[in-house]
Amino acid sequence: MRLGETVRLASPVRRIAQTATDVDVDAETCMVRAERVIVATPPVLASHIEYDPPLPAAYGHLLRRWAAGAIMRVNTVYETPFWRADGLNGETVAPQSPIPVSLDQSPRSGVPGILCSFSFGPSALALARLDADQRRALWLRALAERYGAKAGSPIAYLETDWSSERWSLGGMMAYFAPGMLTTYGTAVREPVGRIHWASSERATLMHGLMEGAVRSGERTAEEVLARKWPSS
Ligand SMILES: Cc1cc2nc3c(=O)[nH]c(=O)nc-3n(C[C@H](O)[C@H](O)[C@H](O)COP(=O)(O)OP(=O)(O)OC[C@H]3O[C@@H](n4cnc5c(N)ncnc54)[C@H](O)[C@@H]3O)c2cc1C
Repeated sequence: MRLGETVRLASPVRRIAQTATDVDVDAETCMVRAERVIVATPPVLASHIEYDPPLPAAYGHLLRRWAAGAIMRVNTVYETPFWRADGLNGETVAPQSPIPVSLDQSPRSGVPGILCSFSFGPSALALARLDADQRRALWLRALAERYGAKAGSPIAYLETDWSSERWSLGGMMAYFAPGMLTTYGTAVREPVGRIHWASSERATLMHGLMEGAVRSGERTAEEVLARKWPSS
């Protein structure tokens, strides 16, 4: 089914107000009145929405403390996936390196060759503090150590720091500090009146991945339908 114009792009929700009978969702370009709302953003972004009445304390605390991890990704592009000619599949894991993982991300046609490499956690934060030129030099050196000198001279270098992406603020998943699950666990999935919650972080399986996001969306949709038609 195509959703078409029902989906409002570039229209962040700023405020959610609920009464005994409905809920008003105030977004940048529209206002929607509904019976129920599903907030399907990463927890930290859900904490940026104003709730009226305010969320119970456990929910507010959980959303503010459920921190996203740090992740930086670089795609380096080459004329061809030259590593394949050397018998390499392009996948590397180097736990001691600030860039511990790389993958062959070339299209099916094999042209151009693309390596996709990642930095995570404290290494990603440290790399983000470097000048762009320093970071690029360090990154390409790490690739050249694994794939040879050719890897250090890509025709394009594309970098994304998810922690500075306004509508992600980190990735690839938010995690619990010690004690959070035992203190706030019930607030992970229980609705607050007419407000329901979905996101990969709230999945019961495949937490943090695309499949977790889909599973969580399906679970929450069923939860909403069960309130509307309790006998179904
Ligand atoms: C670099 C990187 C690599 C990854 N690789 C993989 C992989 O290989 N395989 C895999 O399975 N998963 C991967 N993931 C994880 C995967 O992307 C996430 O698990 C998934 O996108 C989470 O989906 P979500 O719907 O919960 O949240 P999101 O995808 O974050 O979607 C939330 C949406 O809500 C929007 N939003 C936020 N605030 C508001 C607001 N106030 N109003 C309206 N809209 C709002 C955001 O713009 C966003 O579109 C990767 C993640 C990263 C960062």
